[in-house]
Amino acid sequence: MTAVQQVAIVTGGASGIGAALCRALAARGLAVVVADINAAGAEAVAAAIRQRGGTAASRHVDVADASSVTQLVQHTVATHRRIDFMFNNAGIAVTADARDLRPEHWRRLIDVNLLGVIHGVQAAYPFMAQQCHGHIVNTASLAGLLPYPTNLPYATTKHAVVGLSNTLRIEAADLGVRVSVVCPGFVETGIGAASPTLNVRDAPTDVALPFKFLDADDAAQRILAGVWRNQAVIVFPFYAR
Ligand code: NAD
Repeated sequence: MTAVQQVAIVTGGASGIGAALCRALAARGLAVVVADINAAGAEAVAAAIRQRGGTAASRHVDVADASSVTQLVQHTVATHRRIDFMFNNAGIAVTADARDLRPEHWRRLIDVNLLGVIHGVQAAYPFMAQQCHGHIVNTASLAGLLPYPTNLPYATTKHAVVGLSNTLRIEAADLGVRVSVVCPGFVETGIGAASPTLNVRDAPTDVALPFKFLDADDAAQRILAGVWRNQAVIVFPFYAR
């Protein structure tokens, strides 16, 4: 008897934690849909997985656009007839003194980090509820649990993702759907370089951090360990240098 292959969608799968999640899921035998606004980056991750014998396809998605996320989910359902995991992982940051933030910074962070997760939930949850099975994994941050100065819109959206996930988890449990929220500390990825940094006043620049960044593959292993245990909130501790 052949085992049924489980299917995972990972948004923000082209780089960093999302790419590492895609590799780790494929290594466990899942079919992975690598979805990202960076279509070429997503295809590179999917191609590397296929080269190692895994099952992966890439899809362009803009998580800020509800219809784009709906199409991603509908295409996956049409192809595989199932979705076992929806990783709403795509995210962006902005580093700034709160006085320098402009409305467009707030708007973009809310569109991608919060509405992006909401769109993923809205697209995948009804289907998962219908199949009485599935696991939604939303990426927030330690900044969704604690204050994170110089990243006010980021921390605001991540707190909302934690609240959304913890609340949805209760309703979803009755329908056979699991919900987890991931709150990493610092992970070595491109998110810092990709983020606009405005004038940050009084920020110490020459202080050695008392902890070390996790490697993205290590972070993915920790996330999946929490997912397999159906952990509600998957938090990474800091690592002392
Ligand atoms: P990353 O920049 O390496 O990856 C983010 C990915 O999201 C990129 O591939 C990017 O193209 C994609 N993306 C951005 N906007 C998108 C959009 N509108 N639609 C679709 N894809 C989009 O960053 P990362 O560090 O791997 O971040 C992944 C998640 O982890 C984010 O939600 C981030 O907030 C969270 N996180 C990261 C850290 C960290 O220290 N790196 C800590 C806590 C939480």
